[in-house]
Amino acid sequence: SLVVIMERARRRAAHAMLFPFPCSGHINPTLKLGELLHARGVHVTFVNTEHNHERLLRTAGGLRGRDGFRFEAVPDGLSEEDRRAPDRTVRLYLSLRRSCGPPLVALARGLGDREGVPPVTCVVLSGLVSFALDAAKEMGVPAFVLWGTSACGFVGTLRLRELRQRGYTPLKDESYLTNGYLDTPIDWIQGMPPVRLGDISSFVRTLDPQCFALRAEEEEANSCARAQGLILNTFEDLEPDVLAALRDEFPRVYTIGPLAAAIASSSSSSSQDTHNAGPARGLSLWEEDAACVAWLDAQPPGSVLYVSFGSLAVLSLEQLSELAWGLAASRVRFLWAVRPGLVAGDRGAEALPASFLAEVEGRCFVAEWCAQEAVLRHPAVGGFLTHSGWNSTTESIWAGVPMACCPGFADQYINCRYACEEWGVALRLDEQLGREQVAAHVGTLMGDGDKATDMRRCAANWKKAAEAATAPGGSSYDSLVQLVEELRLAEP
Ligand code: UDP
Repeated sequence: SLVVIMERARRRAAHAMLFPFPCSGHINPTLKLGELLHARGVHVTFVNTEHNHERLLRTAGGLRGRDGFRFEAVPDGLSEEDRRAPDRTVRLYLSLRRSCGPPLVALARGLGDREGVPPVTCVVLSGLVSFALDAAKEMGVPAFVLWGTSACGFVGTLRLRELRQRGYTPLKDESYLTNGYLDTPIDWIQGMPPVRLGDISSFVRTLDPQCFALRAEEEEANSCARAQGLILNTFEDLEPDVLAALRDEFPRVYTIGPLAAAIASSSSSSSQDTHNAGPARGLSLWEEDAACVAWLDAQPPGSVLYVSFGSLAVLSLEQLSELAWGLAASRVRFLWAVRPGLVAGDRGAEALPASFLAEVEGRCFVAEWCAQEAVLRHPAVGGFLTHSGWNSTTESIWAGVPMACCPGFADQYINCRYACEEWGVALRLDEQLGREQVAAHVGTLMGDGDKATDMRRCAANWKKAAEAATAPGGSSYDSLVQLVEELRLAEP
């Protein structure tokens, strides 16, 4: 009977094994989910690759395992040469697929033997590691996928197959990138307003007749159907139509975001709970520059533009220079996160022209890597120039900061489209990042014209909506409660 089932569930300790694709954009949300589950009494084992595990041991945020929350590592199978290759992310993807299943299974089996640790009862994956669905099957436990994009990004990715079958992509030749073809209206994606072809995903831009990346992405998204549930870092009010359409295909969708807001709400509502003593911050693969926050403390409210392209994007030298001179011409104050590797040829801040640095001295702070959530929530920050990665977008929404978007990869285009047109919180920059446009858009974003006033009003409303969704009784809060119930009921 139901009572017996509930009782069994109560007695059984759930133990979730979390395995994100090894990059910041996947590690950060997965870690946050781990914190939320742990705070609700679920045992968590967070699995990194050995390579990242080593890196994380060296950075300040570090790996702080504690009671019921452990870190483990498995090899990623890459050589040093692979790690330096321009296509290292593809190599990593293939290598994990090839070699990472058996170590995960072995790790899970070994964990249950340790004293005081219940056996693994479920696996939670991020996107791009669908091979681990088979590993979960071998372990005999259900799998859940935390797909790290927006719901619109996920639906766009699901529809890549149809776009390919209908002949929209791959592109016939390079001229299609610039001849207006990418503006072709697409009005048949259920749950989405009419969008342009180029808005759906970077993968429609492929010229490769084999469409390797396109097919991999579409296969990864579609494979989520094999999981017991799909977890999204979004909230109901943000994307109601696309979520409704998605649920026709995926009956179990848990919308628990914005994760950063959920963490904040969770630690404020149960501050007595020792489970919550852990880090509410991301695991940083780069050292966070604390001086940038001190610099922000000295700037007037709302006066600083924060500039960051996330953890993976690479700018050409020309884009870097255009962006730099555009920022200089805008006359605004800005904090720029220039991580090592942001610039083509594995370069970082050293690629910034000395004449530019001299010109902006006193109103610019260049950091390698920032505590981005803290930066966005700092009162001095009034705008965000972003690549429209989904984590960055949700962090900005939660902070109530309007954006200038320059998307370049995967779901960043659709995030930008929604941020500009549906949510009213952003302006779009062209990919060329021409200095005149950068200066003009940054001027608009940080100025006090009607457009800026509108965006600020919308951003303030979305901030409130994000807080309401993650507060007790909100849609994301309830969805998380349901997810935890589901994890507890999972029969190994
Ligand atoms: N981030 C950070 N410091 C930085 C730049 C980025 O902490 O200086 C974090 C940011 O808060 C976000 C993640 O890195 O959580 C980037 O994820 P996103 O999905 O925005 O982009 P991706 O890196 O996957 O392209």
